[in-house]
Formats: sequence, structure tokens, C-alpha cells
Amino acid sequence: MCQSCNDTFQTLTRDGESRRNFLRSGAALAAAPLAASVATQAAAQEGGASLEASEVQAWAAFDTDGSFAPHTIPRRAAGPKDVVVEIMYSSICHSDIHTYKGDWGMPQFPLVPGHEMVGRVVGIGAEVTKFREGDVAGVGTMVDSCGTCANCLADREQNCLNGTTFTYNSEDKISGGVTYGGYSKKIVVKEDFALRIPPGVDLAGFAPLLCAGITTFSPINHWDLQPGQRYGVIGMGGLGHLAVKLAAAKGAEVVVFTTSEDKIADAKAFGAAEAYLWSDEAAMRSQMGSFDLMLSTVPVAYPMQQFLNLLKLDKTLVNVGALFPIEGAHGMMMGFGRQSLAGSMTGGIAETQRVIDFAAHHGVAATYEMITPEQIGEACEKVVNKQARYRYVIDMTQA
Ligand SMILES: [Zn+2]
Ligand SMILES: [Zn+2]
Repeated sequence: MCQSCNDTFQTLTRDGESRRNFLRSGAALAAAPLAASVATQAAAQEGGASLEASEVQAWAAFDTDGSFAPHTIPRRAAGPKDVVVEIMYSSICHSDIHTYKGDWGMPQFPLVPGHEMVGRVVGIGAEVTKFREGDVAGVGTMVDSCGTCANCLADREQNCLNGTTFTYNSEDKISGGVTYGGYSKKIVVKEDFALRIPPGVDLAGFAPLLCAGITTFSPINHWDLQPGQRYGVIGMGGLGHLAVKLAAAKGAEVVVFTTSEDKIADAKAFGAAEAYLWSDEAAMRSQMGSFDLMLSTVPVAYPMQQFLNLLKLDKTLVNVGALFPIEGAHGMMMGFGRQSLAGSMTGGIAETQRVIDFAAHHGVAATYEMITPEQIGEACEKVVNKQARYRYVIDMTQA
């Protein structure tokens, strides 16, 4: 395939017969490399075999030490409103690591993480309207919610009052047991929880939008970041680098605060106007009272008052990284400037579709390094050690 444009036609011109079959299948609308084979589609068309329950290859953590091993998981038979997605690219989010380490409570092992995935639709239930076989779909942080409560009706499925079903390590209300995520070859999901991926995009670079993208996009919508406003991004890893790219695409004046010297140049390449080290006291002083909005993407707790001081009066610092008790905010200092410290986490399905469409329109995608499933454990370690540049994407097409 053509890595730069995902031109399926280039992939398939090597095999004229396959190309004709592909075009006949109607899959030409989805501009993705057809690693999910034509043969799979043909099988699906012949007998709907892909709608049946199946055993699927996955990679699981068996304890908190982060060593991953191959594991087989069940995927349910597709119901009338379900799509079956053959996963092509699945990226590693820091949440996956927090989860297997037990940072948020002991998970249910074996744990198959992964809530940033893109793949090809290889089966559709009888009542599915949003996808056709051969389309490319994404799945993010959740796979089900009640659909009828006030929060679901407000497009806030992540806040479902009857309990959101998250993509992994969550009670599976349909099949029983626990949900398994994207470190696997296939997922069955309600079409309402699958996202459309526009043609022509870098599919591996789009997988991280399903969590990191929406997590950093939602705050700039909610707090209404405007072009020209000063926007501070604290920490530039998987979340932070997408925060920079998305806000720069919106026309904001983005300023990055990092602890890694080599990320200064990267920040500017991603669209930041300025970038500073936290340890640069003179730079920190020069930024006092200058920001319209700030976003903290650092995955651990740290004293935040040093950044609250950088906000203009009445403005907000949104924490999306440290999902832990936060210390180091000073009531008097926040009160003096009437600044707010807020939290935000992922976003609803409609808003997730918005970030995908926005990214496609503006040519934004994650910067990533491709790995094999055998490298998951090692990659997770590098994420913790701040060595990721900037997302690890697991290539399931070769697995
Ligand atoms: Zn995530
Ligand atoms: Zn609900």
C-alpha cells in the first residue's frame, strides 16, 4: 500500500483481479489499505459467517507487571445493529497502562486494553445504516450506554446515568463478563459506538484521535477557545501533542510547557508559537497572567498552582491527564484572580465524530511509531519513561 496516502488503488493495482473484486464490493469508498483481505469480504458476503460469534486473537496483560502475552478472547455474534470490525491499528493510551498497573483499582485479568482503534467493517447486522462492509470504522473509549437517560440524550454517553460500558475492563451488559479492547484482531460493537473515518487519511495516525484526540478536543469546544487566544498545553506526550496540533489548527496561539528539552523543537513543528521548559524560571515568570485557557495533559499529579498563576483573570486550567487526587492548588491565589481548575474526560460520540472530521479537514493526525503486538510491553515501558514520540500504534494487519 501507499503509506503516505493510503491509496487502496495503488495497493491493489498489483493484482488486477483483486482490484476489480474490491471495486465491485463497493468498498472503494473507504480509502484504506486493504489488509483486511478481499477474501474476508467475500466470505462475509457468501454466508454472513463474519456475524457469528468467534474466538479472536488478542494480547493480554495477566498481572500488574505489564508483560503482555497472546490470548484468545470471545467476541459475540453480531446483532442487528452491530458491526464487526477487523482491527488494523490500535494505539497505546496511558490509561491502558494505569489500568493494568492497578492505579485505578485492580482490573480483571486477563486484561485486553486498547480504546483507540481503527479497522475495516467486515460484517454488518441487518439493521445497520451507518456502515457498509468494507468501510473503515474507529472505536474509542466506550462501546455502549443506555441511550435513554438525560446524559445520553445530551450526547454525553460517557456520563450515562445507567452506567457507560467502557471499551475494556468494564462490565459487558450484552455478553456478560468483562469487555475486551483493541489489542485484538476483531471487535463487535453497536454501530452507534463506531465512528466513521473519512477517506484519504493516515489510518494509523487517526487511531489516537479516538481517545487522545477527543480528550484534548472536547475542552477547547467546551471552554470555547477562539482563534488568536493564548492556549497553554502542559505536558506534550500522546495527549499533549494532539492538543497542540488541534488547537493550532483552530488558530489559537499555542504555548507548550514540557520537561523534555528535545520536545521544544517538536512543539514548534506541531504548530506551537512558543515552548518552554518548566525549569526555566524566567520563562515561567514571563508568561504570568497571559493565558485564556490551559490544558494539563501530564498523567501524574503535580503542583498545579505554578500554572494557575499563568492564567488571565477568570480563566480556566483544565486537567485531563492526572486522574488522581490533585494537590498544590492554592485557594487564596486562585480566589484572587478568580481562576478555575476544572476536569474533563473523553467526550460523547457526536463530539468524537467532530474531532475526526475536524482532523481530516485540517490534515491533523497523531505522530507515531508503529510496533508489532510482541512489542506492546516494551512500548508501555517507554511511555512511562517519557520516551514515546508520540504514540505507539500496534500494527494488527501483520499480526
Ligand atoms: Zn485513552
Ligand atoms: Zn444513559
